[in-house]
Amino acid sequence: MSSPRASARFGTAVTIAETQPRLLPGEEPEVGDLLADVSSKDCIQILTGATATQVSPDGTAVQLDNGQTCTAERLLVATGRRTDLAALGVGAVGLDEQARIIEVDGHLRATDGLGAIGDVTGKGAFTHVSVYQAPIAAAGILGKEPEPAE
Ligand SMILES: Cc1cc2nc3c(=O)[nH]c(=O)nc-3n(C[C@H](O)[C@H](O)[C@H](O)COP(=O)(O)OP(=O)(O)OC[C@H]3O[C@@H](n4cnc5c(N)ncnc54)[C@H](O)[C@@H]3O)c2cc1C
Repeated sequence: MSSPRASARFGTAVTIAETQPRLLPGEEPEVGDLLADVSSKDCIQILTGATATQVSPDGTAVQLDNGQTCTAERLLVATGRRTDLAALGVGAVGLDEQARIIEVDGHLRATDGLGAIGDVTGKGAFTHVSVYQAPIAAAGILGKEPEPAE
């Protein structure tokens, strides 16, 4: 979020379109409200509940589902990322390739002979989650029975 604010402070007119009813929808409401407040002070226009449906071929116009069109010289796309289980080929061990995550038990086991850690488990897409899970999974591979992940 620093890039739009930096641009705004350099004098660029900035508009943020967010599908959800508020900014940072995965965080506590106060966080998104605070960001909206400080962004407004930088003259950033925030459009919430606004889904981008189409971008013009030259990338300078974005159509929103509320009928509005935003035009600009530059477009920054920051819509997130998701897992692609089909690309990993987990169907070969009987897992659903259309699922968004690999379901794991407390010992990070997904099925016989397959464990998973990190973003793909859907437990929180943070480095420290992976670091927390890794020794639990490794201990299981080594035949130990550590305390399960909380
Ligand atoms: C822009 C950005 C900023 C972030 N900032 C933070 C932050 O400040 N703090 C924080 O805690 N987290 C942050 N994260 C999240 C953090 O990077 C991830 O949660 C963490 O890297 C997850 O670790 P992982 O091992 O699950 O996946 P990754 O680190 O993505 O590692 C997966 C690896 O698997 C490889 N791979 C994929 N498919 C295959 C395949 N078929 N065969 C072999 N290899 C394959 C990939 O190339 C990759 O190297 C950020 C993420 C992004 C994108």
